[in-house]
Amino acid sequence: MSYEHIVRTISCDAPGLKTELNYFRIGPKNASQKVFMQAALHADEQPGIMILHHLLPLLKQADTNGLLNAQFVIFPMVNPLGMSDLSFGQHQGRYNRVTGVNFNRQWPDLFKEVHEQVADKLTDNPDKNIHIVRDGIKQWLAQSKPVTAIQQQQHIVIEEAFDADYVLDLHCDNDSLAHIFSVPQSTDVMQSLSDWMSAAATLMAEDSGGHSFDEVWSTVWLKLAEAYPDKPIPLACHSATLEYRGRFDVFDSINLDDAERLYGFLQTQELINGDLIRSTPPATAKPTDLAATEFTKVNEAGLLAYQVELGDIVKKGDVLADLIALDGDGAFSKRTPILAGTDGLLLSRNVQKYVWPGCNIAKVVGTKRLTSRSGMLLAD
Ligand SMILES: [Zn+2]
Repeated sequence: MSYEHIVRTISCDAPGLKTELNYFRIGPKNASQKVFMQAALHADEQPGIMILHHLLPLLKQADTNGLLNAQFVIFPMVNPLGMSDLSFGQHQGRYNRVTGVNFNRQWPDLFKEVHEQVADKLTDNPDKNIHIVRDGIKQWLAQSKPVTAIQQQQHIVIEEAFDADYVLDLHCDNDSLAHIFSVPQSTDVMQSLSDWMSAAATLMAEDSGGHSFDEVWSTVWLKLAEAYPDKPIPLACHSATLEYRGRFDVFDSINLDDAERLYGFLQTQELINGDLIRSTPPATAKPTDLAATEFTKVNEAGLLAYQVELGDIVKKGDVLADLIALDGDGAFSKRTPILAGTDGLLLSRNVQKYVWPGCNIAKVVGTKRLTSRSGMLLAD
């Protein structure tokens, strides 16, 4: 039994400033499996903080009862740098104020960092190969010297995540139903997670193009397997981004339920023993290709008047919203319909109704790949 609360100090880029990064290690130190979870990497997305707040005591109790088959590493608020981004009475937190980079983009490509040093060591034994690759990542970590505040923060997180068998990154959308992003190779695990989360959609892509945090842990294995097809290299980590609805969905009532559901998922993965926390949930929708989900955008500024609700099934050409003109001849009278570009489920909308050219205003989950969707598949 072990329950550790760890506090690490990050030196900020401005002189005299420091911040702290808190996390928890729970469960047997010699466990053969490891689960890593974090919340609020996008610091303005806080449902995950509340969910992990409720999950921690459940894990602590399970540890006390000797039920944990894995070590759990939990960062309930993984981005203190983003949490400190307060200006003019508002919290931001999606972008690093120093670099301008989205906190969930441009994470390292571990394939690039380790493939040369591990290539000659790979064997015909898949388990040995997992150790060899993780050793390679460990060595790369040991020689990388973080300098800036964001580098220090990322380094601490990678040090704790690199040898995890499951990495779950808790986010939320703008105004949305629950959904998941992951890779097609993890379909079975993600279907179970989706059922437990009662998710409306599971969106799959091998590489969404954004170097997001969850993809660090899947793409290294997938790229190694592709580069060395004569060596058995399994997908050693199931990783996913979990979108817990919209940014205002932070309440004890719903997030305690989310925490218990997450616990149930971990039980079905045999990471926690004991009677199921609740009965097995009903099946949810099957995963779909992320490239089949339309990110509907507007081309001009205006005020949105939505014509659809979350969860509506729409047809291509249906009106999702009217965009009320705010300038020109039609100012405050002209309404331009914004149409769905595919058949599917309306997964998300915007809470902010004032939009400008290039803004995403909806996600429509279709089933047919869209020719308009290639390269970078995520919104920034
Ligand atoms: Zn996010």
